[in-house]
Amino acid sequence: MEQVLGNRQRGLIFVISAPAGTGKTTLVRMLSQEFSCVVESISYTTRPPRATEINGRDYFFVTQAEFQRKIAADDFLEYAQVFGEYYGTSKAYVEETISQGKHIVLVIDTQGALQLMGFLEATFIFISPPDLMELKSRLHRRRSESEEVIDRRLSWAEKEMELAKRYDYHIVNKNLDIAYQVLRAILIAEEHTNFEEKC
Ligand code: 5GP
Repeated sequence: MEQVLGNRQRGLIFVISAPAGTGKTTLVRMLSQEFSCVVESISYTTRPPRATEINGRDYFFVTQAEFQRKIAADDFLEYAQVFGEYYGTSKAYVEETISQGKHIVLVIDTQGALQLMGFLEATFIFISPPDLMELKSRLHRRRSESEEVIDRRLSWAEKEMELAKRYDYHIVNKNLDIAYQVLRAILIAEEHTNFEEKC
């Protein structure tokens, strides 16, 4: 049966970057809840899990040694060091998902996205907060990080926003419902671009 989304034999890849606290996690969760054909990629990381995080759901939490082994085995589509910890996207996870006709969303930092631009056929989406003060208060509300970590993340976020221009789409998350409607529309439009189905 034809649906709004999920009519391709091979899924598409969507790369989303956003500074911390922009609501990207919520937006991507809304997508995968509305559409069973949208899957969020689970990255590997050397960062320790936060209190609410579960191994295999939020990330695959691995040691530095395991991560280095995976780099050597060429297991990553891209990887980067963010705030001193490694994060990487599994090639196998992405391939397996899109070969099932499902769309995959990679929520990765700008270093990782830049590695993929021009080499991976994907749609690149940047989500930003309305302004940095708002970002600051959201980070404070989350209260899971120290002041120093918050300051480091804020200066990183400012630099990241300069890179927003390189993406195919830029969504400013002023209002969650509107940002979601825009994100959802991008996925639907991308699925309906002219294409030759590769079987
Ligand atoms: P957090 O530690 O807050 O979960 O993530 C920190 C940053 O790492 C976020 O910008 C997040 O999007 C990014 N990130 C998560 N997974 C990956 C990945 O596989 N590759 C890259 N390059 N960045 C990632």
